[in-house]
Amino acid sequence: MHLVQLGKRYREETRSVEVVAPSNIIAGSIVWVEDPEVAWIDGEVKEIKGEKITVKCTSGKLVVSKTSNVYPKDPEFPPSGVDDMTKLAYLHEPGVLQNLRCRFDINEIYTYTGGILIAINPFQRLPHLYENRVMEKYKGANVGELSPHPFAIADSAYRQMLKEQISQAILVSGESGAGKTESTKMLMQYLAFMGGRNNNTGERSVEQKVLESNPVLEAFGNAKTVRNNNSSRFGKFVEIQFDGRGRISGAAIRTYLLERSRVCQVSDPERNYHCFYMLCAAPPEDVEKFKVGNPRTFHYLNQSNCFELDVLDDSKEYLETKRAMDIVGINQAEQEAIFRVVAAILHLGNVEFVKGKKTDGAEPKDDKSRLHLKTAADLFMCDEKSLEDSLCKRVIVTRGDRITKSLDPATAAISRDALAKIDPESKFLIGVLDIYGFESFKTNSFEQFCINLTNEKLQQHFNQMEQEEYKKEQIDWSYIEFVDNQDILDLVEKTFKDHKRFVKPKLSRTDFTICHYAGDVTYQTELFLEKNKDLVVPEHQALLNASKCSFVSSLFPPLPEETSKSSKFSSIATGFKQQLQSLLETLNATEPHYVRCIKPNNALKPGIFENNNILQQLRCGGVMEAIRISTAGFPSRKMFREFINRFSILAPEVLNGSYNDVAASKRILEKSNLSGYQVGKTKVFLRAGQMAELDARRGAI
Ligand code: ATP
Ligand code: MG
Repeated sequence: MHLVQLGKRYREETRSVEVVAPSNIIAGSIVWVEDPEVAWIDGEVKEIKGEKITVKCTSGKLVVSKTSNVYPKDPEFPPSGVDDMTKLAYLHEPGVLQNLRCRFDINEIYTYTGGILIAINPFQRLPHLYENRVMEKYKGANVGELSPHPFAIADSAYRQMLKEQISQAILVSGESGAGKTESTKMLMQYLAFMGGRNNNTGERSVEQKVLESNPVLEAFGNAKTVRNNNSSRFGKFVEIQFDGRGRISGAAIRTYLLERSRVCQVSDPERNYHCFYMLCAAPPEDVEKFKVGNPRTFHYLNQSNCFELDVLDDSKEYLETKRAMDIVGINQAEQEAIFRVVAAILHLGNVEFVKGKKTDGAEPKDDKSRLHLKTAADLFMCDEKSLEDSLCKRVIVTRGDRITKSLDPATAAISRDALAKIDPESKFLIGVLDIYGFESFKTNSFEQFCINLTNEKLQQHFNQMEQEEYKKEQIDWSYIEFVDNQDILDLVEKTFKDHKRFVKPKLSRTDFTICHYAGDVTYQTELFLEKNKDLVVPEHQALLNASKCSFVSSLFPPLPEETSKSSKFSSIATGFKQQLQSLLETLNATEPHYVRCIKPNNALKPGIFENNNILQQLRCGGVMEAIRISTAGFPSRKMFREFINRFSILAPEVLNGSYNDVAASKRILEKSNLSGYQVGKTKVFLRAGQMAELDARRGAI
């Protein structure tokens, strides 16, 4: 691991965090040694012979390992762990894991790593953590004073926005099921709480709309997958806009790369988007109105045997979704149109085609198919014959997949960008990014490629922000090795040839491997081109544009002249790249904050902490890298004035007479006998653990 190598180099400078090199280990030392099952196991060193160490593990096992794979274990490790990794005496992988584990065991699911919040999904409700009185407590408290919490991150973003007059972003990452969406909701809940206005007009407030957008987005964009019962199949960036006084003035949501194929293809035991099942479970009058019924009768739903979920009552969700739609301002007529489109998709999926008897094209297979086609046309409020023609002339003995592609219900419902705006003078925003983390499966296709590229970009952003801060403050950071992944971005964006991060496996003609910052991923390219096509058939567009329902018609604006003759191809990758570019531009103009979510087990159950699984995520999510940078760098920073307010008690004489902030801060630091810290232009930069050390001295006075 990098950390210890770096530790060796900088040991002299680090006092509180002693990253001890393996050479300090002697016979009798208590150590961590690698173990294939539990990742790290503790024991006592029995013998050291050259490169080999023999360890008697607490499990009784005798293990012989290379010295470089053995790390010292802190003999005074506090039983309930520490709330910030930088307070660990030994900051290495086994220490980080041990800390997370003993906190998780007592339901302390949040831990800081310098400024990053690590959140481990508890897979059980812990309501006491999120009550209003907890929000009250975090209001205005310093990060680090209270236990680690998403509210603390949101609070610090909010206050920084007001103080420094800069927009902020909170980046939430982690693999599927790790808790990104739940964490995002808590962040939004806190920001709504802080920026809310009292309105007595009886109208819905913007903050209510912001919060209620979640159930709407989830109904149309979430589905049960094998990895998460409520998996978001799109990325989102929620922008909450504030006026100069920190009151919410508007909100907007940008969404990214919805998984469209799910509408037509679902594999057992997953489900299609929640909205389909909800509609089938609607009150009888709605079931009748939208001509739906048992989900088992619809092809798009019965490809999988999973219909109901223990954790989700579809009929209740239907009413909840409608209520949320009311609140965000989707009126009754629009709601009806949206659900008509949802129902029409289900009916289209049941239309089977056969080769036409009279013509070259196709025709509905039988009366049943004809009836579904008619129902779909009724629901779309478009002409039945035109619908049939637009499908049969083009599709030729396939299901009506294509039309549903341009019709995915999620876009239908989420296409509105600006959620609400009550005040034109938005000055800043706090954006919360809930986006898919790095993915590496047995087979990786186009989706993983786009997702991993996103993560590569975000990682690059993280590194750049860190370096910029040091530059701005004129801190000497030349010895911190930032892993620059610009070369991967160049590789993907510019050229594939002869690149050290690009590997072509010998045995496959169609695979390629990219060495990402988080690990190597081999991609299978067979479906890349197909998946990259964003096909909109002009006839379908025109047909739905002619719908008598103005809402449906508005979803399908007329295509420009030149494209209406032939199918319009645009590439998903190009569109996505543009979106990503624009996201990064937004992020570049903001101060970033990070929440890294961790999924403790694949059984989605409480109380199970799988070491190897978690380590993998810490590595992929850049947490180990962040820890490495923190240890080598300066994870704790304080503006001079804040620093003086907090620590002048350690050198009260600095406050005598008129004093200068820089000199006073320096004096406090000198008197504290710390070393290795740096004093920037506006802030004090402390090494890992030094803030805790100062706090301890302050407490001792
Ligand atoms: P995906 O990438 O698939 O969308 P995700 O990271 O957004 O996954 P979530 O949907 O937020 O994952 O979380 C999955 C499930 O884990 C939730 O439905 C909930 O049951 C549980 N969960 C997550 N965070 C918490 C929490 N803080 N408290 C209680 N339960 C939680
Ligand atoms: Mg999610």
